[in-house]
Amino acid sequence: MEFTERQARIVEIVKNSSPITGEQIAAKLDLTRATLRPDLTILTMAGVLEARPRVGYFYKEKKKTSPYMDRLRQLRVGDFKSLPISIRENISIYDAIVTMFTQNVGSLTVVGEGQTLRGMVSRKDLLKSTLGKTDLQQVPVSIIMTRMPNIIMTTADEPVLEAARKLTLHQIDTLPVVEAFIDEKGEERYEVIGRFTKTNVTKLFVQIGSLGAQS
Ligand code: ADP
Repeated sequence: MEFTERQARIVEIVKNSSPITGEQIAAKLDLTRATLRPDLTILTMAGVLEARPRVGYFYKEKKKTSPYMDRLRQLRVGDFKSLPISIRENISIYDAIVTMFTQNVGSLTVVGEGQTLRGMVSRKDLLKSTLGKTDLQQVPVSIIMTRMPNIIMTTADEPVLEAARKLTLHQIDTLPVVEAFIDEKGEERYEVIGRFTKTNVTKLFVQIGSLGAQS
């Protein structure tokens, strides 16, 4: 399990002096209880700490991960991805903007022959290009896109949790879902088969939460 720095410090404190209340942990870290609340919730949900009402937090020596957490880790990108929204790299910046509106997406995948991944173009890329004197009808999107090999990708069999981590780590909204293949020159290429976005993660979170509330 990967802890953030603050979570690791909380775990150390609870290990050394349990039971300990949220207020006491906060005081040791010179933080407010409100600041600590999300970390304490996450550590308790993940089964690292146990919270006993009116007693405090304990460190769980023998961690039994909840079946819920195990299931969460098993969810795969392939089951929650959306269809790819792709454009060719020779289309104009103007047409890319129009496509973004008509398709109602925030990023477009740029592909070549056989849906081969070439790059990504996002809202901010397009906005930036409108600030200068660029002729939006003439300049191709390839000039402003983020291009391979700098694209962060995912695959259908990657755990959703891992893909979501990539989205937050790289501060991006969309990962192209790809299948690798070797082209006629013997080089590795990636066929775009979908997109996995922050919206997919949010929808999944809402669905799991709503079903949990009904049962
Ligand atoms: P926004 O334009 O709304 O900020 P993003 O945060 O997704 O959208 O994009 C930020 C930057 O990262 C843009 O320059 C974009 O081209 C680039 N980008 C978008 N998706 C990816 C990706 N999967 N891999 C690498 N770079 C990306």
